[in-house]
Amino acid sequence: MNMRTLRDELLWPGNNAATKNGTSLQVESDNPALAMCARGLLEALGEDLTREGLVDTPQRMARSLSYLTAGYHETIERVVGDAIFTENCNEQVLVRDISFFSLCEHHMLPFFGKAHVAYLPSGRVLGLSKVPRIVEVFARRLQVQERLTRQVAEALVSVLRPRGVGVVIEAEHLCMAMRGVQKLGSRTVTSCLLGEIDTDPSYRAQFLALARD
Ligand code: ZN
Repeated sequence: MNMRTLRDELLWPGNNAATKNGTSLQVESDNPALAMCARGLLEALGEDLTREGLVDTPQRMARSLSYLTAGYHETIERVVGDAIFTENCNEQVLVRDISFFSLCEHHMLPFFGKAHVAYLPSGRVLGLSKVPRIVEVFARRLQVQERLTRQVAEALVSVLRPRGVGVVIEAEHLCMAMRGVQKLGSRTVTSCLLGEIDTDPSYRAQFLALARD
């Protein structure tokens, strides 16, 4: 059986493509309530907000946080749009090495890495660029890696009704690297296998081997 392996050309959707398609994920926007909180945070750190380098920092923090959490204002339905096609394809489709950035919900520090996402079509396929976009919708929120992994898998099930789905995410958490145990470079691997990719030993082995490549 063949497997379509799609690598680097599918990593980040460019800014233009995303805005053209109407998603809010690539846009930094002002958020006065967040800017006010950022000001309070800097003050609580004992900083002098009149210092030249800090004058515009609350606004910058607010814009950057809005960007990093834009997934709250996006839905899978909107991101996928009409990019579902009837196709007589029964082979496992795998999109590897989808890079992502997220924020852990315990410390609001970044975690980032790669997602490998596969599905077994049942008469319908998804436009390939949509797979990284689905990852992005859930990554751009406060997250734990386990939930991010499951949400990506369940989103594919809900939009595509495939025979099976497999998601593996490997990520480095800065809350572990910069503080706490201070282990730089250690990676956490999570997986969620559903349907035939979970239950059929050959699909399962094939997916796990390719995700590990
Ligand atoms: Zn954390």
